[in-house]
Amino acid sequence: MMNVPLLVPTMLERAEKYYGKKTVISRTADGKKTHNYKEIGERTRRLSNALEKLGVKQGERVGTLAWNHHRHLETYFAVPGLGAVLHTINIRLAPNHISYIVNHAEDKVLFIDEDLLPLVESIKDQLPTVEAFVVMTDKEELPSSNLEPLYHYEKLLEDGDPSFEFVKELDENAPAGMCYTSATTGNPKGVVYSHRAIVLHSMALGLADSAALSENDVAMPVVPMFHANAWGIPFAAVWFGTTQVMPGPYFTPKIIADLMASEKVTIAAGVPTIWLGLLKELEEGSYDMSSVTRILCGGSAAPKGMIRAFESTYKIPFVHAYGMTETSPLVVLSRLKSYQQEGTEEERLDIRAKQGSLVPGVEMKVIGKDGEVAWDGQEMGELLLRGPWIADEYYKDERTASTFKDGWLYTGDVVTVDEEGIIKIVDRTKDLIKSGGEWISSVDLENALMAHPDIFEAAVVALPHEQWQERPLACVVLKESAENVTKDDILEFLRPQFAKWWLPDDVVFLKEIPKTSVGKFLKRALRDQLETHYKDSSLTNQ
Ligand code: AMP
Repeated sequence: MMNVPLLVPTMLERAEKYYGKKTVISRTADGKKTHNYKEIGERTRRLSNALEKLGVKQGERVGTLAWNHHRHLETYFAVPGLGAVLHTINIRLAPNHISYIVNHAEDKVLFIDEDLLPLVESIKDQLPTVEAFVVMTDKEELPSSNLEPLYHYEKLLEDGDPSFEFVKELDENAPAGMCYTSATTGNPKGVVYSHRAIVLHSMALGLADSAALSENDVAMPVVPMFHANAWGIPFAAVWFGTTQVMPGPYFTPKIIADLMASEKVTIAAGVPTIWLGLLKELEEGSYDMSSVTRILCGGSAAPKGMIRAFESTYKIPFVHAYGMTETSPLVVLSRLKSYQQEGTEEERLDIRAKQGSLVPGVEMKVIGKDGEVAWDGQEMGELLLRGPWIADEYYKDERTASTFKDGWLYTGDVVTVDEEGIIKIVDRTKDLIKSGGEWISSVDLENALMAHPDIFEAAVVALPHEQWQERPLACVVLKESAENVTKDDILEFLRPQFAKWWLPDDVVFLKEIPKTSVGKFLKRALRDQLETHYKDSSLTNQ
């Protein structure tokens, strides 16, 4: 067979050639803009050319600090189209972490949304490798800023060549992108994606039993484009000629609901907190969600109660998926097998609330205390992964040695596997609660709590305990509509569902659960908060 390299720019070329009329609808700071793939292609070629003129060479890194919009999408292809490496930076990280990763990646150019300029200005003296800043704005004029040299995105495009040829003489294993993922302690860790990995991962997103992304879809990645490349959706959607809706800066649940209804979105992707917010919005407002054929939810466990609410109340099918920055990210996705359709609704929901089975192309091993675990849905072990879109190291980082061993990625996620090979994430290794030598899954307790009609969100953490080492503590945020819900009500609700020793020792009521920069529960901060403020009035035991 022909050994044709799998290269990112060829994906955009396909969209230009065959789907020139299909569109990208982008909510920007100043309004809504629509471009078709012919225009996006031309603009991207101009940008590639402009970057070349700025002196960016093959293999060099170009950073972005931006929300989800069409300009960010153009950098997704313009940078790899030049053979350079697109480094999407998490805008919600602390400034010292942002300067660390810009320096670690040695970014040469930074693309910045106008509203994020102050963030970069505050660290500009700590960025010696950056030779040019480009502001992404709808405004005609350059905003005033002390960043130098500062270029206007649209002006750069004006000077670029619309028929610029993307690089073709490139090894498919060459780097095309990179993302940093937060570590529990220490600096973020860099993951480099090759052209080959991005193309193969995109193909996996299109498989019928996976996300089934296709030309027919209107896809809205709510997941940020700096979080594992918005789960690879922008790449795959361009390749397939899928219409895309980009939610832009500072979106709210109302903005998401409005966009989904007005643009007739068929598939939207994001973390559970986004969907909890949308659910609340749908309860309060009136929106036509009839176009939505599936919501893709990953990043942390999707509570069963939420899946049920979307499906039974709003008739929106819900697909649970699992992945990591290190895995491009899609590796596990929950779909019923043909013969599993027969069970009761509750049985089917139980299966689909699990993270699911491996997408084709990826392999796994689950290692417990005594080697590989039995597929009995009971025995717990750490999930190990390998495959063509799984990283095999952290970029220039000695923490590689503890995570990548013998050709496998050690995910740090504890799972069970049932007879069908369906994976359930029990916890992060560090979040499991060890009580009297036995493990308690914080995730299971959280999911049960979030199924309570008066609970908006809940996180469970370990409290140190003299006799049992650790005991579970439930932290609960009540819905605004909740009245007189007490700790005992909540424990009574859990009692029939768990062994006695799993029940939390205490329930505290919070105004909100601290979240990570990508919307996951930040248990480290929660533990610190609980330690310092346990007796504070913001934590009330009712
Ligand atoms: P990130 O690299 O930020 O995407 O984080 C990856 C981690 O998120 C994984 O190692 C899991 O701990 C967690 N995660 C991702 N998807 C899920 C899911 N569907 N259920 C539970 N945890 C998840």
